Amino acid sequence: MRDFDYQQLANALRQKGIKNEQVLEAIAVTPRHRFMPESLWEYALADSALPIGEDQTISQPYVVARMTEALLEAGSVSKVLEIGTGSGYQAAILSKMVDHVYTIERISSLHEKAKQIFATLQLHNIEARYGDGQLGWPEQAPFDGIIVTAAIDAVPPPLLEQLGENANLVIPVGDVRGQTLQVITRQAGEWVTRHIEPVRFVPLKKGTR
Ligand code: SAH
Repeated sequence: MRDFDYQQLANALRQKGIKNEQVLEAIAVTPRHRFMPESLWEYALADSALPIGEDQTISQPYVVARMTEALLEAGSVSKVLEIGTGSGYQAAILSKMVDHVYTIERISSLHEKAKQIFATLQLHNIEARYGDGQLGWPEQAPFDGIIVTAAIDAVPPPLLEQLGENANLVIPVGDVRGQTLQVITRQAGEWVTRHIEPVRFVPLKKGTR
């Protein structure tokens, strides 16, 4: 059995500018390889996105950490929505820091696989749904934070509506030519946008598959 030292990955992310120690601790205790195909386990500690099948990827750890950090800047965050479960890694990181994680995936094979790994790792505070995340999860709204892990050129209105007061929506906005990570905060009924940094995500699509 190979040894995976995720403290090493956390240290590397601190060097790259991640400041939130809680986020770094979550990175240090989450077995990233378990969210990847076994053939790629040797790259589990690499700070890069990797293929997980179905033309999708597990996100780059730096980007996972940066998005989580931005989400948590809202202060007291208990209930979070993630769009684009994918491998489940981002949801697992969130589950270490908030009370409830709701996550939606539109590809059923990825949804099933992620659900299984959440159960195996006993991440009982994650609820995973198969569906179109562009519609959000109205039954559970409002959320203290929403994180979208696929890119779109215009933010879906249901996600803006399901954002609670003073909560942050973290979303890559753009297309294949270029995307920017944006943080949208709902303040006194208005949505205030900040630009964080350039990123590269797979596209947010419509419907299910
Ligand atoms: N958060 C993931 C990254 C996944 S990549 C991780 O930590 O590994 C983006 C994912 O978003 C893909 O699995 C893709 O199928 C999914 N996706 C794209 N459009 C979607 C939509 N409308 N609703 C839900 N999931 C979507």
